[in-house]
Amino acid sequence: MPRAVVITGPSGVGKGTLIRSLRTRMPELQLSVSATTRRPRTGETQGVDYHFMTPEEFEQHVAAGDFVEHADYAGARYGTLRSELATRSAGGAPVVLEIEVQGARQVRATMPEAVQVFIAPPSLDALRARLVGRGTDAIEQVEARLRTAEQELAAQDEFARVVVNDRLEDAVEELVEIVRDTTATG
Ligand code: ADP
Ligand code: 5GP
Repeated sequence: MPRAVVITGPSGVGKGTLIRSLRTRMPELQLSVSATTRRPRTGETQGVDYHFMTPEEFEQHVAAGDFVEHADYAGARYGTLRSELATRSAGGAPVVLEIEVQGARQVRATMPEAVQVFIAPPSLDALRARLVGRGTDAIEQVEARLRTAEQELAAQDEFARVVVNDRLEDAVEELVEIVRDTTATG
């Protein structure tokens, strides 16, 4: 079983930003590239940001049992491919999964040894400001993500480790400590 670190929490809370900093501090960490049916945003690259696929391709992978976990989120499908985890963990380094809460629950059931960290915003207003400020999503997408965020925030007690991403540097420091302690790297 690969050593895995699941980073979850609402869209716009700063998961991607935190993981970029984490990987600068711990370059050995591998990042699992997810599959999605969502359209690529400007600047996103096939196979780097996501394995972008059609709904038909995604469904074929579901039917074949190729996913460790998968979920519907804000009108698209997202999932972690078993083959992706196997490739990324081949060198023995921990693999980071950046996934939403339904997926994190599935991983908790099937890979209970995986470390799970919930990233929380300082407030819902701050979350909205970040989603709007990121400028990547239409307002309907922002609203859909905020509606889901309220349910996701209600689920944070399920997670043994919660990091509030208020001041970025503090949150990065906390995350580095958790990952070092729980994966015995570095
Ligand atoms: P996620 O991956 O969780 O969807 P992002 O990493 O894309 O979130 O961050 C969403 C936006 O919030 C980005 O514009 C990012 O620069 C900003 N951001 C991230 N962390 C902080 C923070 N601690 N304080 C203020 N803005 C932040
Ligand atoms: P975005 O469209 O902003 O890239 O991602 C939307 C949400 O889907 C984010 O919360 C992100 O963490 C989550 N996500 C990305 N990849 C996966 C995945 O493989 N599985 C699951 N369950 N969620 C994912």
